[in-house]
Amino acid sequence: MLDLSDFKELGGFIRFFKEISRIPHGSGNTAAIADYLENFARDRKLFCYRDELNNVIIRADATPGYENRPAVILQGHTDMVAEKRSDCQKDMAVSGLDIYRDGDFLRADGTTLGGDDGVMVAYALALLDDKAIPHPTVECVFTSDEETGLVGATGLDTSVLSGRMMINIDSDEEGVLTVGCAGGVRADLSLPVFRENVKEGGYVMRIDGLVGGHSGIEIDKGRENAIKLIGEALADIGDARIASLSGGNADNAIPRSAEAVFLSDIPREELDAICECLRERYAVAEKDISVTLEPAECDSHLTRESSAAVLRLICDNPTGVIRMDEDLPELVETSLNMGIARLGEDAFLLSFSLRSSVNERKEELLRRVTDISESLGATVSTHGSYPGWKYRKDSPLRDIMCQVYKKRYGKEASVVTIHAGLECGIFSDKIPELDCVSIGPDNFDIHTPDEHLSIPSTLRVWEYLKEVLISL
Ligand SMILES: [Zn+2]
Repeated sequence: MLDLSDFKELGGFIRFFKEISRIPHGSGNTAAIADYLENFARDRKLFCYRDELNNVIIRADATPGYENRPAVILQGHTDMVAEKRSDCQKDMAVSGLDIYRDGDFLRADGTTLGGDDGVMVAYALALLDDKAIPHPTVECVFTSDEETGLVGATGLDTSVLSGRMMINIDSDEEGVLTVGCAGGVRADLSLPVFRENVKEGGYVMRIDGLVGGHSGIEIDKGRENAIKLIGEALADIGDARIASLSGGNADNAIPRSAEAVFLSDIPREELDAICECLRERYAVAEKDISVTLEPAECDSHLTRESSAAVLRLICDNPTGVIRMDEDLPELVETSLNMGIARLGEDAFLLSFSLRSSVNERKEELLRRVTDISESLGATVSTHGSYPGWKYRKDSPLRDIMCQVYKKRYGKEASVVTIHAGLECGIFSDKIPELDCVSIGPDNFDIHTPDEHLSIPSTLRVWEYLKEVLISL
């Protein structure tokens, strides 16, 4: 069991982090933590707003001497990715976490720690709870279900907020100030297909062992896409009639494996040569790639026309980086990821995650995918669209946060924009004049049971945050 005396240096932070760790709060399960936040505000007679999505806003007036300073929004999300090790028996929907200290790190036994984004919740509550900490008016915004598509932020009524400066605490690297991010949309393609019921012997081709990765952060690392590779290999065969085809698990993860059952009249040696060619071509970039071909039975397969249309849908649509940023050439501006492929009885489904820091380019890319797909007879539906967060040339908040950083750390902060989604884009879209920066302490292996939060970093960022608040 966690002994608070282990964390004396973390003060109020660890007290509240421990309390929220007792409340199950995986994505989609945020009512209880919203109740907790409401009770916290009621006990301290603080203004509190809660909506039906379980978003919560708690406001604290300025402390004496800071009444004339501008109000500041502190923002983060209450939900966490509830992942656990395969040998962990805990039901994370009903049980809290077992957090413990491991040297300089905070971890949870067998599960994600929820430092993403419990760090923000604990910082905010520690601030609101301690009357001795000076600050301007602060509006703490706790959004729900960020991890499943920025749901809470998208539905939040921001007219309750008076602040026009916002510090988002949902980044995981100390010393990095994030000041812009890509917007995105999910696109699902559905192609009607026709089958022939013939029981015949064919082959199963499997591509596996690719590196994969996050479709925003790792899209420019030259990683191959298993769906694309299997589509191109089957197209190379020329006469493949497909019985089944599947690849990938999430539209925002680069697919690591794909598998297809197909019939072909091409001699086995030629098929083996195509597999060998794939292995050789990608052996350097994807050193663990495995391509196998084995005999397989099937009860039905697509007609030649449907097979050809499926393969063209995979081969003709782009995947990966479309364009790099003009001003920041090391940053991806526009990309898409062919993330999931599934062949059903009468339709083939292909799902993409599209991203761009320029909203018009995202729309342009979506039109391109739609044109290609519709010309092959597929329909395209979209969901989960969120706006990009555009870099502001003029940002007093960023300037002050850089100054305070330099003063405290004796070096420059690194100021970046990222090719992944943050809630800041949604807030900036709703409040056009919003000046916003995203920070956070070092938190490693987030979204996995190895998640571990650096205690010294959490402490330094806490001191930094308090100084920023009285410097604005
Ligand atoms: Zn997060």
